[in-house]
Amino acid sequence: MTLAVPPGATLGVLGGGQLGRMFVHAAQRMGYFTAVLDPDPDSPAGRVAHHHIRTAYLDDHGLAQVMQQCEAITTEFENVPAEALRALAARRVVAPGADSVRVCQDRVLEKAHFARCDVPCAPHAVITARNDLGTLDPALFPGILKTSRLGYDGKGQAPVRDVAELAAAWAEMGELACVLEKRLPLAFEISVIVGRGASGELVHFPPQQNLHRDGILAVTQVPAPQVSPALARQAVHAAERIAASLGHVGVLCVEFFVLDDGSLVANEMAPRPHNSGHYTIDACDESQFDLQVRTLVGAPLVAPRLHSAAVMLNLLGDLWLGSGDPPWEAVLALPGARLHLYGKPQARPGRKMGHLTLTAERFDDALARALEAAALLGLAAF
Ligand code: ADP
Ligand code: MG
Repeated sequence: MTLAVPPGATLGVLGGGQLGRMFVHAAQRMGYFTAVLDPDPDSPAGRVAHHHIRTAYLDDHGLAQVMQQCEAITTEFENVPAEALRALAARRVVAPGADSVRVCQDRVLEKAHFARCDVPCAPHAVITARNDLGTLDPALFPGILKTSRLGYDGKGQAPVRDVAELAAAWAEMGELACVLEKRLPLAFEISVIVGRGASGELVHFPPQQNLHRDGILAVTQVPAPQVSPALARQAVHAAERIAASLGHVGVLCVEFFVLDDGSLVANEMAPRPHNSGHYTIDACDESQFDLQVRTLVGAPLVAPRLHSAAVMLNLLGDLWLGSGDPPWEAVLALPGARLHLYGKPQARPGRKMGHLTLTAERFDDALARALEAAALLGLAAF
């Protein structure tokens, strides 16, 4: 029996960033042609795909070209309008589907979905009108105001200590629909990546432990050093319930907080591969992007195996802003170092330019080499 979308077909991805680029690499390796929709002529994925359709995501002409060129279509970011996915899905294989993306792109719907799945999330209130500011539970302070949509890497967020600061921050955000979340005492953060096929089969990667700096992922470690087997099971089951009850098809990442008392709280989710899963390219026999291809083309899903311990360091634009290139020669001399650069022509502070994965048989060795790499690059120790 052949696959629903066999090799030789063209797979499309909406969005031309690094996630699209790594999807394209995985798809091409499996014998697919690829097309990327992104207006930027220098987009990381557009530059490596067979076809680059350079229009905005809502451009009817661009979407018509995607439909014409591609047998199956996925997305690399969750802010693609659900209607666009729905229109494509009427004629083509599309994963993830519009319903799943609609929930993941909106913090209010996302939190309601966690609650439906019996997965705790941070105490919060929805703020859509000035009146909402007067009726808040004081226990939500100190809190974090987050726009309901379009936030990423800590953008669209403001810490607020009281109602006055909240009112100012909300005005600053243009009175957009927001969520006020209680600031929780985090012991550490983890995420779980699952893949779900069209017939409901589920596979997962082991939970990874994530360190954020300034709201941006800085370091991912796996196996997660502070996660007990029981906590890992709990997080994986929660992520699987969340994916299944969304009817999600594709890859899904759920970010969790682990609180000082050991309890697990869902933070947010992404209906696609995630920055915290980039290590899977080098440390697993099947990466999160391979899994995205499999779920899209209807291939069997096989439990991925972590064959190496890994520590991933995000490489932000700040690294290029000093004098000259980062010291690649010294970094690449470290055993198990795998450098991934996304081909972005312009470095900016906080911009994700690439990542470095250090793999080893033993976690302690991967960690020691990652600390050496961080020192060479001038990154803070962890
Ligand atoms: P983004 O969409 O930018 O990733 P997140 O909601 O994941 O936004 O927040 C980014 C980071 O900020 C989190 O990974 C965590 O470190 C911190 N953070 C967010 N919400 C809370 C909270 N309620 N309590 C404590 N820390 C938080
Ligand atoms: Mg996040």
